[in-house]
Amino acid sequence: MLVVPLVTFSLICGVAGLGDVGLLGRIGIKAFLLYILSTVLAISLGLTLATLFEPGKSDSQRPLIEGIEFTAPEAPPFTDVLLNIVPGNPVAAFADGEMLQIIFFVILFAVAMLMSGEPGRQLATTAEKLNEVMMRVVTLVMSAAPIGVFCLLAKTFSVQGVGLILPMADYFLLVAGCLLLHLLVTLNLLVWIGAKINPLVFLRKMRSAQLFAFSTASSNATIPVTLQSVERRLGVNNSIASFTVPFGATINMDGTAIMQGVATVFIANAYGIDLEFSQYLVIIGMAVLASIGTAGVPGVGLIMLAMVFNQVGLPVEGIGLIIGVDRLLDMMRTAVNITGDAAVTCVVAAGEQAIDRSVTDDPEAGQIIDLAAAR
Ligand code: ASP
Repeated sequence: MLVVPLVTFSLICGVAGLGDVGLLGRIGIKAFLLYILSTVLAISLGLTLATLFEPGKSDSQRPLIEGIEFTAPEAPPFTDVLLNIVPGNPVAAFADGEMLQIIFFVILFAVAMLMSGEPGRQLATTAEKLNEVMMRVVTLVMSAAPIGVFCLLAKTFSVQGVGLILPMADYFLLVAGCLLLHLLVTLNLLVWIGAKINPLVFLRKMRSAQLFAFSTASSNATIPVTLQSVERRLGVNNSIASFTVPFGATINMDGTAIMQGVATVFIANAYGIDLEFSQYLVIIGMAVLASIGTAGVPGVGLIMLAMVFNQVGLPVEGIGLIIGVDRLLDMMRTAVNITGDAAVTCVVAAGEQAIDRSVTDDPEAGQIIDLAAAR
């Protein structure tokens, strides 16, 4: 309900606020490269630790897998992904919530606005007002979020149970450990070195967004909360965040990449297949491409995993083995995914001197509703 209108108004304001089309290109390229870099780091971490700890390796000669079934869902070819960025019909794109198409159309529209002089300026003022009201709608809805988060979590844990995790404990714990490591070390170093933000401040101010991502397992659904957190709590200017946050929710999935790295090694071990070095490179490349082409919604990581398996020649049915614990891991990796989006947003904004440090340093700034405190 909130995502499409918020992204639209916010992005129009962002581009209008930049006032320069060249700047938009620079920010876009920087954000894209940083997103790719953080995904490559994430999957490399997953692959390295999985190779070290060898999850799924059976002691006997018999591989772990027997009678597992999984039918791979259809994954779009990469050329289609690129072509699909341009919407055939923008209204349909808005109706279906196609994030890359919406971003493409809104940027085009806002650039045209910049080029149209006075009428464009008037429209920009209106967009600013609409954005302000939409932010207020987010705040209203967020005041009910603690109840929603509670219900979502209660449902997931009562349906999933801990019983599912035990037989898969080595895989589960390894993915969870890698996610934590990436969150606490890689991403914190990125904001500390790249944006000069104290990692503790960053983590504290991202807490509501992380909890929201954890309970919904959807980066897309979390966009409004991520936007609020980076703009109003960390002080990033709307001209950067309005573009990098929805862009990141669609193309950047560090947590998902980690799961894919560990899952690939795990399934290969379970089948008794040895992976070559060249296959590791294919896995990294495929995971990056797959994350660009798929939106941040629950469970999409497994579809991407099927693409990776097809490419490296691993049996896709193997995914059936990990499907039982995937929902819980999905929740965790989504929290890491959106933290990655926020970290890159801060770094890009710092490079453009677009962070209001007085907001970053103020612990109370922009507190909408602190989900953790409201429990
Ligand atoms: N649920 C994740 C997200 O929305 C994607 C996934 O790993 O399935 O970011």
